[in-house]
Amino acid sequence: MATPQPPPEKMMFQLTLRRRGISDQAVLRTMEEVPREAFVERGDAAYAYRDSALGIECGQTISQPFVVAYMTEQLGVQKSHRVLEIGTGSGYQAAILSRLAREVVSIERYRTLADGARKRLARLGYDNVEVILGDGYELPDTIGTFDRIIVTAAMESIPDRLLERLEPGGVLIAPVGPHHGIQTLVKVLKTDAGFDRRELVDVRFVPALPGIAREL
Ligand code: SAH
Repeated sequence: MATPQPPPEKMMFQLTLRRRGISDQAVLRTMEEVPREAFVERGDAAYAYRDSALGIECGQTISQPFVVAYMTEQLGVQKSHRVLEIGTGSGYQAAILSRLAREVVSIERYRTLADGARKRLARLGYDNVEVILGDGYELPDTIGTFDRIIVTAAMESIPDRLLERLEPGGVLIAPVGPHHGIQTLVKVLKTDAGFDRRELVDVRFVPALPGIAREL
């Protein structure tokens, strides 16, 4: 008997990611397994496997799949890793990370989004993700340190206080740049000598804003 084929839109999705240069097999497999349609707005389910960002509640966005895959690949997540995400949004990136890491802590400044993502992730069985309502610029002291940090909202610069949360050998990836201008994905590696910083590609993210959002 022939092995069942994934639906055509999922095959196209994989093809697009490969064509655009994603080659890490674990990342590609995870992108195939995590149901993006469960993270987009109900009316957008038909567009879930297009390679584009989509609007979610609170005027925020679920990132473009290629960017999610690219950042995940660049992060180099291993099974033993504790990972921090700043900007939970829909919880999609957190779900992808949770399949590759030991533990994911994701922080979001909108209560509506944090509560929504927490419920969605629990319902779908991503039980090694903790979603925290909070501000990624003011991490709670008790949050600890991380092997990998991913920021999914644009910061004008990377705060030292965030870099301090990296374990030795740790990697941070963040979009850096003005809120309405060109932002660049920056990768920072914590070495014995200090921090090694590299610029990857230009991107476009919603801004990282300080404080817990007052509305909702
Ligand atoms: N990773 C998300 C997409 C994130 S959009 C996904 O997979 O769906 C960026 C998110 O970052 C928004 O939800 C926004 O509210 C949040 N955000 C912005 N500034 C923040 C901050 N200082 N702390 C925590 N979350 C923040």
